[in-house]
Amino acid sequence: MHVQGARVLVCGAGGFIGGHLVNALFRQGAAAVRAVDIKSFDQWHQINPAADNQLLDLRLMESCRDAARDMDAVFQLAADMGGMGFIEKNKALCMLNVLANTHMLLASREAGVKRFFYSSSACVYNADKQKNPEVVALREDDAYPALPEDGYGWEKLFSERMCRHFYEDFGLECRIARFHNVYGPKGAFSGGREKAPAAISRKVLEAKHSGRHEIQIWGDGHQTRSFMYIDDCTKGIVDIFESEITEPINLGSSELVTINQLVDIAEVIAGVKLQRHYDLSAPKGVNGRNSDNTLIRKYLGWEPSTRLRDGMVETMAWIEQEMLAGASSK
Ligand code: NAD
Repeated sequence: MHVQGARVLVCGAGGFIGGHLVNALFRQGAAAVRAVDIKSFDQWHQINPAADNQLLDLRLMESCRDAARDMDAVFQLAADMGGMGFIEKNKALCMLNVLANTHMLLASREAGVKRFFYSSSACVYNADKQKNPEVVALREDDAYPALPEDGYGWEKLFSERMCRHFYEDFGLECRIARFHNVYGPKGAFSGGREKAPAAISRKVLEAKHSGRHEIQIWGDGHQTRSFMYIDDCTKGIVDIFESEITEPINLGSSELVTINQLVDIAEVIAGVKLQRHYDLSAPKGVNGRNSDNTLIRKYLGWEPSTRLRDGMVETMAWIEQEMLAGASSK
């Protein structure tokens, strides 16, 4: 199935990835895009006026029915979530994402939706495989035996399985991507829901502009991660959606860095050198995590490849502009 000519629903369109996805789907030739989110329009990261923009609480079955009506395809990205600081302290809220996921699947089935895309996460992976910063990249089958991130990861894993059974039992075609840390312009950079690249960009830029050349880093800075630029993420979503890949698949960069190296990159871009303070009591997540991209290369002949430095240049330029304009992150 192709996006071109299809009527598509983006759930969570007021959010970071959803906002970019709406634009990507138009570029791809979607016949119509319905964009839905729970938060008021002034809180959306971006609004495409060509879309049918609606405010709905997708935890409710009736809202999901309204959202899915007349749609050929659904991209389910709506979730109450944030960086480690948020998901470690809001496990029940993260588990309640099961309501939107379940009701959207039920409503999609009722409405005769042809294909359903679900945004899962690298947080589904077994924690025992992520203890060492000298990380071995995570392959799709490392999700089992299950020992995912408490709260958020368990819900993602459960909803992945729900998609699988909606396909097996009800014939609803599902595609599932496990996103690994996504970053880029037009996302949260303050307020507690921001992820590491945005938080570090903000802290480095604040230090540059205030002249206080210091930075607080969560953890010891040796934790390793990979970060995927938003344009790679939206391309991957469309390509996985259009593919015949019926099992969950990694969508992430395989350029592994330590948090200290991420700070190095941000410092070079901002043209400052900061004194580092490490907050060992702050939430820091697993010690090491990377994406094994063997499967996506095999199926799509492609993998996310924007260099972290290049993506950070774009991200920091946008955050700096927002900070100077006095805008706080949404
Ligand atoms: P985001 O928080 O920017 O966007 C999620 C959006 O969903 C928000 O705008 C929120 O208001 C909306 N939402 C929450 N509850 C809702 C409800 N009941 N009804 C309607 N809308 C609701 O997050 P994002 O970074 O754009 O992430 C999108 C998806 O990708 C999420 O499912 C997330 O779990 C997944 N994901 C993201 C990352 C990442 O690094 N950003 C990594 C792994 C997985």
